[in-house]
Amino acid sequence: MADAVQTPQPTFPPRIFSGIQPSGGLTLGNYLGALKRFVEKQEEGIETIYCMVDMHAITVWQDPEKLRQQTREGAAAFIAAGIDPARSILFNQSQVTAHVELGWIFNCIARMGWMSRMTQFKDKAGKNSENVSLGLFAYPSLMAADILSYKATHVPVGDDQKQHLELCRDIAIKFNNDYKVDFFPVVEPVIEGAATRVMSLRDGTKKMSKSDPSDQSRINLTDDADTISKKIRKAKTDPEPLPDSLDALKDRPEARNLVNIYAALAGHTPEQVIRDYAGAQFGTFKPALADLAVAKLEPITLEMNRLMQDQAEIDRILGAGADRAEAIARPIVDQVYDIVGMIRSRRR
Ligand code: AMP
Repeated sequence: MADAVQTPQPTFPPRIFSGIQPSGGLTLGNYLGALKRFVEKQEEGIETIYCMVDMHAITVWQDPEKLRQQTREGAAAFIAAGIDPARSILFNQSQVTAHVELGWIFNCIARMGWMSRMTQFKDKAGKNSENVSLGLFAYPSLMAADILSYKATHVPVGDDQKQHLELCRDIAIKFNNDYKVDFFPVVEPVIEGAATRVMSLRDGTKKMSKSDPSDQSRINLTDDADTISKKIRKAKTDPEPLPDSLDALKDRPEARNLVNIYAALAGHTPEQVIRDYAGAQFGTFKPALADLAVAKLEPITLEMNRLMQDQAEIDRILGAGADRAEAIARPIVDQVYDIVGMIRSRRR
């Protein structure tokens, strides 16, 4: 992405947007790849908007009551991890209808061919593509609408969202070209840090995911200290000790994954971790990693549990965040209606 460094265009002030689906409990992958980085962006003082994307979640079946609970739990995780709802905007997507309105318009901008190339769709649909929802196919176009409803310029995500953000750039460029405007920014993916792709604890070639059938494959943000410890100690590895260079981990995906997790949790680079643990057996490294993971995650889990005691307060925070989000998105999407040629004559 040679041109990625040239944006944002001077006309667009920096604004961060990102989202997480409330389609299950959050994992260590979500924490290291997304949440932790969301907090860092908030601390940098940039305007930050974070969203529980419930409309994306229902592209696959969700039990209604569980969906509501998972949305609250996600919001609690954001706050427990350090998102301050006074400084960042935190809300759930369905409360701000601008997203789906712009999503429809983007469905008319995006091309079938672009969407058909989305690897996440192909992975999720598998052999069953005749029988998945139309929403799952249109998913990346709604994601572009999430971002561009705010003219966000930077989007922190894990590595798996790179292709979706490229599509968001294509949609912005095509919209601007088709309507001969300079309306939407071409967004910058922000995919950085040691753990942009946390892998399964059972299989170092698979992404850690809330939808993996094996609970042993992931660390959930709701796991207690004992469970975290056990899962790390049982994580799949190989019999070799840790080498003294990252290069030597090239064909050892499980070992590399644990080194990356350690680095991201400790706030070090993987190179530093390898230097510290060169020659160590997993019998030494795993307990150290387990202790570190517990030290970092347990306070978040405890705070999440505390926040979940007062669900009305979480709903209030999401509502107040949605009001602030709406105040930004509404005028932007109203301008889009004008640009595309819709009559807007209702008195409001
Ligand atoms: P999702 O849970 O699919 O809604 O993802 C929410 C955010 O977490 C996105 O930015 C993802 O890229 C990120 N994420 C999810 N799983 C992982 C993982 N295993 N490693 C790193 N980032 C992840």
